[in-house]
Amino acid sequence: MTDAAGLADLIAERVGDQASGWDIAGELPRDLLVELGGLGVLCAQVSSEHGGPGLDSRANGELTASVGELCSSLRSVMTSQGMAAWAIRRLGSRAQQHHFLPRLCAGELAAVGFSEPGAGSDLAGISTSIVDYGDHVVVSGRKVWVTAAHYADLLVVFGTYGGGATAVVVPADTPGVRIERVPHPSGCRAAGHAGIVLEDVHLPADHVLGGTGLPLSLIVTAALTYGRMSVAWGCVGILRACLAAVVEHTDTRVQFGVPLAQHQLVARHIAELYVGEQTAAWACEHASASWDSNCPDLVVDAVLAKYTASRAAASGADRAVQVLASVAAADGHVVARAHRDAKLMEIIEGTSEICELVLAEHARGRTGRSRS
Ligand code: FAD
Repeated sequence: MTDAAGLADLIAERVGDQASGWDIAGELPRDLLVELGGLGVLCAQVSSEHGGPGLDSRANGELTASVGELCSSLRSVMTSQGMAAWAIRRLGSRAQQHHFLPRLCAGELAAVGFSEPGAGSDLAGISTSIVDYGDHVVVSGRKVWVTAAHYADLLVVFGTYGGGATAVVVPADTPGVRIERVPHPSGCRAAGHAGIVLEDVHLPADHVLGGTGLPLSLIVTAALTYGRMSVAWGCVGILRACLAAVVEHTDTRVQFGVPLAQHQLVARHIAELYVGEQTAAWACEHASASWDSNCPDLVVDAVLAKYTASRAAASGADRAVQVLASVAAADGHVVARAHRDAKLMEIIEGTSEICELVLAEHARGRTGRSRS
């Protein structure tokens, strides 16, 4: 297993103080993505058998938090790459794993497309079709808001297949594939969000993961669970960035004759930010422990972590802006960036409301079991 702390140091050194510039420009340097991809850092749970660092969920989580603290756009690309790798690992045959996973650890970049114009929270509305013609398939449809699609070499696209659904690996340069960049996303502005248009895209049959139709809920949950873990840990990073900025600012900025931190109403914001960071980290550590021990509650624990961490990040970043006031009103400040990025974390990989539905159902089942 590669040392996660060493990977985090390497990324911190490469990112330096460039994240705000990338955010304003709306672009990450491609050579950096290829370099990090080639080290397997972007999908660090891939095993050494397939060329990856083979981190467990906890170590990958801490790595993800450290990237989230630096740059949510880069963390978003990391989430997409990891989710693509996890979908291939969970749904693909051994031959497909051997074919695709080493490519994702050798510098090729990937994105994952579920969402469509008519299928956001309700993925049962997916209408992209993967039609089987024996030795090849034809993919037609449209995906929206796909993180990292602008950078991706490989697109993992979910669609209907036979009587069920599946995912297919689509090289982005296949004839019939068009990538349409989202012009000005409000946050994670360098994460390369794009729509994908697929017009009669012909692919070899062995690009269909698993080669068979499965229930949509099963395949979506398999990929989303990784994405939720990754987003949740990324939010811990956002909270750490905000906390550091707030502590530094309130120790040094003097108003009414004392540093801001000595005003009790300001101290409450610091306390709330700290509670948010700690609570989010605990929820993530709990979910990663479930992942690493193959606990059957993993799916709901990942939802709980994503829900807790994204809400804490959104409200924590809001507090940080309030405390830094005009300083955080400048585009390019770490807290201004965190504020915009954190809000989007309440939308992706299942909105907060969809998480609440899952958690309520789980709670009702548990309570029902304990009563009977
Ligand atoms: P809608 O589903 O239209 O929901 C609108 C509102 O209604 C939300 O508040 C929602 O919670 C609420 N709502 C909907 N149904 C219910 C219900 N049953 N009960 C209560 N409330 C409900 N997609 C991908 O496939 N791949 C990606 O990489 C990707 N990256 C993204 C990155 C960003 C920054 C963003 C903003 C989106 C991304 N998406 C991606 C799309 C994302 O998954 C969807 O935006 C998300 O699932 C919500 O869908 P929607 O935007 O269509 O909202």
